[in-house]
Amino acid sequence: MNVPIVRAVAQLRMTVAQWRREGASIAVVPTMGALHEGHLSLVRAAFEKADRVIVTLFVNPKQFNSAADLAAYPRTEEEDAAKLAPLGAHLLYAPDATEMYPNGFATTVSVAGVSEGLCGAFRPGHFDGVATVVAKLFLQTGADLAFFGEKDFQQLHVVRRMTRDLDIPISITGCPTVREADGLALSSRNVRLTQAERRAAPKLASILFEAARQLSEGAPVSQIISEARAAILAAGYAQVEYLELRAEENLEPLPALDQPARLLVAAWLGGTRLIDNVKVLPEQAPTAGCGMRAQLRRD
Ligand code: AMP
Repeated sequence: MNVPIVRAVAQLRMTVAQWRREGASIAVVPTMGALHEGHLSLVRAAFEKADRVIVTLFVNPKQFNSAADLAAYPRTEEEDAAKLAPLGAHLLYAPDATEMYPNGFATTVSVAGVSEGLCGAFRPGHFDGVATVVAKLFLQTGADLAFFGEKDFQQLHVVRRMTRDLDIPISITGCPTVREADGLALSSRNVRLTQAERRAAPKLASILFEAARQLSEGAPVSQIISEARAAILAAGYAQVEYLELRAEENLEPLPALDQPARLLVAAWLGGTRLIDNVKVLPEQAPTAGCGMRAQLRRD
């Protein structure tokens, strides 16, 4: 069965109202299209929790910093709809820019704190664009649940903060990053890599995982980060925009690994900017402590 495509907010609302009358719970999976297994994993996760799943497809001009990047962004709506059909997605909401931002549109949702630093430092206005469109998608769909990828970890934090601050009644779920067999995080931008770049690309992930392992074993943060940065450049990346250890819970910078964390990176491979992040957990407390408690109990 084909996935019905809806382009107008009014029609979306009518469909959702009917689902509400049927007592159905509703999930939304926001995307910019060019769907890959990462996106589809979110759709599958949504199906586990909701009766109806809306996938949105909108290449949001407000979150692009460069007109060239926006123009080059892959647009593959027909293929996207074909990928969603076997999953049983109930609706593909694909508005055009004038439906989303009609003449006179003048509102920006701006999230302080978690939007700053990392991608926010290198892509001015990007997270304002994200927060604005995601707020609109939440209000347009009226969904109960929304699914986002941890691949865009800072974005996930921005969306959570925005949702809490604006009291939007929707529950946000973050889903793990889906990777190619060689470790490269799936991204719609990967299609832009040349063959040689594609061969070099997975080194970013392997360097991150290795750095995470060393950090977990207690190696000093600043040393591991500078070694990993050098390794990324040696692997053929042209520039490392940032490589930072941040707290998993609130994205605060971490000079030492004293709580669950993420190592986050953005780097340029030729003309393509790739981002990735991995979880870093402080080494488990030595078992001596437990042993001691056990011994005390025995005594
Ligand atoms: P995008 O179309 O790139 O805006 O991404 C739409 C959603 O898919 C976002 O929530 C992303 O975090 C998520 N996503 C993108 N790539 C991946 C991936 N490799 N694994 C899991 N989720 C992803």
